Amino acid sequence: MTVGRFDGQNVVVVGLAKSGVAAVRLLVREGARVVATDARQSAELAPALAVLDGTGVRFELGGHDPATLSGADLVVVSPGVRTDTALFGPARRRGVRVIGELDLASAFLPCPAVAVTGTNGKSTTTAFLGHLLLAAGTRVFVGGNLGTPLSDAVLSGEAIDVAVVEVSSFQLETIEAFRPAVSLFLNLKPDHMDRYPTFGDYAAAKARIFMNQGPEDSAVLNADDLEVGKAASGIRPRVFGFSSSRALERGVTIKMKPGAFELVWAAGGGAEAYLLRNPRIPGRHNAENAAAALAAARLCGAPPAAVAEALNTFAGLEHRIEFVADRGGAAWYNDSKATNVDSVAVSLGSLDRPIVWIAGGRHKGAPYAPLRDLVAGRVKAGLLIGESAPLIAADLDGAAPFTMCGTLENAVKAAAEAAAPGDAVLLSPACSSYDQFADYEERGRVFKTLVKALPGGPRA
Ligand code: ADP
Repeated sequence: MTVGRFDGQNVVVVGLAKSGVAAVRLLVREGARVVATDARQSAELAPALAVLDGTGVRFELGGHDPATLSGADLVVVSPGVRTDTALFGPARRRGVRVIGELDLASAFLPCPAVAVTGTNGKSTTTAFLGHLLLAAGTRVFVGGNLGTPLSDAVLSGEAIDVAVVEVSSFQLETIEAFRPAVSLFLNLKPDHMDRYPTFGDYAAAKARIFMNQGPEDSAVLNADDLEVGKAASGIRPRVFGFSSSRALERGVTIKMKPGAFELVWAAGGGAEAYLLRNPRIPGRHNAENAAAALAAARLCGAPPAAVAEALNTFAGLEHRIEFVADRGGAAWYNDSKATNVDSVAVSLGSLDRPIVWIAGGRHKGAPYAPLRDLVAGRVKAGLLIGESAPLIAADLDGAAPFTMCGTLENAVKAAAEAAAPGDAVLLSPACSSYDQFADYEERGRVFKTLVKALPGGPRA
């Protein structure tokens, strides 16, 4: 009989979203007696329950019982669930460990992990690095917060050389032992102020990415971001930077060239220059993502020739300044993933023409005023939707003409009227989608369908 690492242990899994379901399956494989609990009722959880059918798991649905948690040997909590609440009080007082799915799965990982965090650019950089490593012939798993939970990689049993995982601040809150061989910290700006009491709390959660790294591990840091520098002060791993403002001896120096970026990688020895000329990932922010991915790929041993080619074959990700169509002579972009003010600033700055801007949704707590100069300089019409529309209009009053549109459908109609040939129409909400959509992906897909149905496409 094989021995599971959790044989006979009572484990409670809180939250049955994708990562919770994967955690349950891994725990069951390892012999745990699992109680799975979720605030939602069974009707809403049908797909999750179908996957777990026959596993012998006990379900507590429609709410959580603190006593169930405090009676467990271990609690595995979904990143969507806060752990500083009364629910966890009794368990914590009894000394029950509370970890996340990432920490659980990483203990079973047969290969090094590369972890990517930051306020913006995580998914793009994670996918980009996966693309570079794949091109170099590496057997790579790409997932974490982006797409597939790490537990699924462990469960599949497939041979992997490197696991590239996107990690959010919520996931990092609940790590104990997770130790990436390479960590990437892309940038740090106010976000999730609806979950963290202060910016310092958010920064501290993110900085946990370095917590278990040792001197033989590496960290790739944005050398132009003072907050990243502060969060990383005194860390143990070897540090490599990326910068577009100064030449670095260790890391990637980003240089603007006509129609391209030059990325120069140096790691103590000689320097290697790479040309990034990839129209599918516009803007300096994407050059930064590319620089971080390049550094990590070289640290993982990917050969320069493969990396040089793959830098320019990466297709970018859906919902991130994704070109949708030409309508009425204007270029329409879906940037539904831009759910905070900083990512919107980056997107507005990346499009070099007059912009009809669609924004709004559920407010996340940070003010919109930092967008004022960019909006005044680039936005010819602002079309606002969702709960936050009045807040955005108030914070940016006078920076551009704003229209309250209510729904995305109305905003698309209004945008078709406002846009002239040569303009860009950009859905870049600065807000989450949960007031009107299931998630940012649904919002982006609805937008694309509405845009494609508009008349005035280019003649065939
Ligand atoms: P995340 O996974 O961190 O949310 P994504 O790669 O999904 O990041 O990109 C989300 C949005 O953030 C993009 O639409 C773009 O507007 C912005 N963005 C992407 N990369 C960066 C970066 N390096 N710095 C600032 N903003 C970025």
